[in-house]
Amino acid sequence: MTNDVTPPLVPWTAADVKRSLDGGAHTFPGGYPILYLVRDAYREEGIMHPKCVREVLREAALDDDDSASGWVVLGSFVLWEDTSSVCAHCEGELESAYGPSPVEDVEGAEETSSKEDKR
Ligand SMILES: [Zn+2]
Repeated sequence: MTNDVTPPLVPWTAADVKRSLDGGAHTFPGGYPILYLVRDAYREEGIMHPKCVREVLREAALDDDDSASGWVVLGSFVLWEDTSSVCAHCEGELESAYGPSPVEDVEGAEETSSKEDKR
């Protein structure tokens, strides 16, 4: 049974973010990589690695400019399936729970049989 619950997009407080980051970069139990949904000062949403959230927060604390002041964390989650999105900070790959899929960069090929069957 799937019961999708959309979390309310309420910005976390600095204390919430710190508590979450201090909990580590992986879920316990499970050991899945945790990612953060963030929104920048331009109201653009993005996904970031825990270490990048830490880095941006540190930069924001040191550098008192406006681009950092509107920056918030909206939530944390585990990415279950691979995505083509990249980290909004380092532009690195976002780790999914099941690791990178062995799909090669094939142009024009439409053999995506691994996708869910829709009937
Ligand atoms: Zn990153």
